[in-house]
Amino acid sequence: MLKEKINLYLEKHGLGHFCPKAVLFDMDGVLYDSMPHHAIAWQESMARFGITMTAQDAYATEGARGIDTIRHFVKLQKGEDISLADAQTMYDVKTHIFHTMPEAPIFDGVLDVMELLAHHDITINVVTGSGQRPLIDRLLRDFGRFLSKEHIVTAYDVDRGKPYPDPYLMGLRKAGDLLPWEAMVVENAPLGVQSGASADIFTIGVNSGPLPDQVLYDAGAHIVYQKMTELRVALNDLF
Ligand code: MG
Repeated sequence: MLKEKINLYLEKHGLGHFCPKAVLFDMDGVLYDSMPHHAIAWQESMARFGITMTAQDAYATEGARGIDTIRHFVKLQKGEDISLADAQTMYDVKTHIFHTMPEAPIFDGVLDVMELLAHHDITINVVTGSGQRPLIDRLLRDFGRFLSKEHIVTAYDVDRGKPYPDPYLMGLRKAGDLLPWEAMVVENAPLGVQSGASADIFTIGVNSGPLPDQVLYDAGAHIVYQKMTELRVALNDLF
């Protein structure tokens, strides 16, 4: 199944052989089961500023830079264009609430997937829309065996966040100036999938949230799994 989807992708790009050198992982909802906490933090923080955000909104906008999401909702609900600095102030409240919650667990299968990739000399990279420093530190703590700081793209590395291709293009650069077909993306959110697919990278959806699979396919996912453990099994197909 995975192999067939990869062949379709290669055909579309006029390529003959797939030899990935890097996997670019999204962070929230892919590595960490953190989205339920984010959804609560979004709702509570925005309510303090008179902005209504639902859990559904949190999932639908996941992957975008927090400040972009905030500016979008303020414009929509108050008709105001706020500055990046004001949006950052509001985002800081969201971050604060998030960090009062228990640490989100690593999804089952994540370390197994990384182990397998590392065994095949494929580098591990993270491309996140998050700008939360403590989370970056946590990445290095949890995945330091596979991941170095130079292989992490955050909200601070790009001017245009997901769904633009920029974060994943930056990911290719940080992975060693790779071409799109030398990498794979693993994403859980529609905007993130759109970002990976529009960078022309083979994009795997892992649908860990409440949205239907079709939303990820519509965003451009080449294949969709439900869990990282399922992806781990599917990767046997590749090696
Ligand atoms: Mg995500």
